[in-house]
Amino acid sequence: MKNRIITIDGPAGSGKTTVSKALAQRLGCIYVDTGALYRGVAFELQRQKIDYKEDKALEKFLKSLDLTFAIDGDHDNGQFLLLSSGRDITPYIRTPEISMLASLSSARPLIRSALLNVQRNIADEQDAVFEGRDMGTVVFPGASFKFFLFADITIRAKRRFDEMPEEEKNFTQVQKEMEIRDYNDSNRVAAPLKPAEDAIHINSSDLTIGQVIEKMLEHIKKAKNI
Ligand code: C5P
Repeated sequence: MKNRIITIDGPAGSGKTTVSKALAQRLGCIYVDTGALYRGVAFELQRQKIDYKEDKALEKFLKSLDLTFAIDGDHDNGQFLLLSSGRDITPYIRTPEISMLASLSSARPLIRSALLNVQRNIADEQDAVFEGRDMGTVVFPGASFKFFLFADITIRAKRRFDEMPEEEKNFTQVQKEMEIRDYNDSNRVAAPLKPAEDAIHINSSDLTIGQVIEKMLEHIKKAKNI
């Protein structure tokens, strides 16, 4: 692998996205939220009324799928946008419904292999921090550094709850949906959520984002000095 790739895997609400963004900024590279790709697939499945369990329809759908990332604003401070055939779908991919459909449909190997190339093509172009569920195990087994970030379920659910708009807040519901997604993601046959054998485990339950990043940077610096 010619570029420096750092992977961060872990369950929903473990802090992956915030940490990946900040770590990438510290290292001067891009970050890639691969969950957004699975959410983009779910959004398009729903919009085009495709049943992800039907092979024929799914194959046809995947052939025409065109998901790309773009940056809105300057490189350092810009927002990452997810485009589907050039159209910005970022505002529609974070609903609870899309979260659940992404978790269910991402178990299909056809979908996973279609997204494998999208992810590896990005890594061929530049150094990057990739966050997801199978970055260290399947997509980038040869990554320079692999982290597995986790936290207690109540803490993860509380983080998600705090981000929600007032009218949608329901803690029991948030925790329940997170547990279902954790279960689906960890128990599927294709690329389940699990740490790579050589991943560095970090429990973020009692750590601030800053502390998690410092821990990661310590590992990266230590390895450089070897
Ligand atoms: O990370 P995020 O919660 O946005 O991911 C949404 C869903 O996409 C996850 O619940 C998981 O099922 C799926 N996903 C995946 N592999 C990845 C990233 C996300 O299966 N690398």
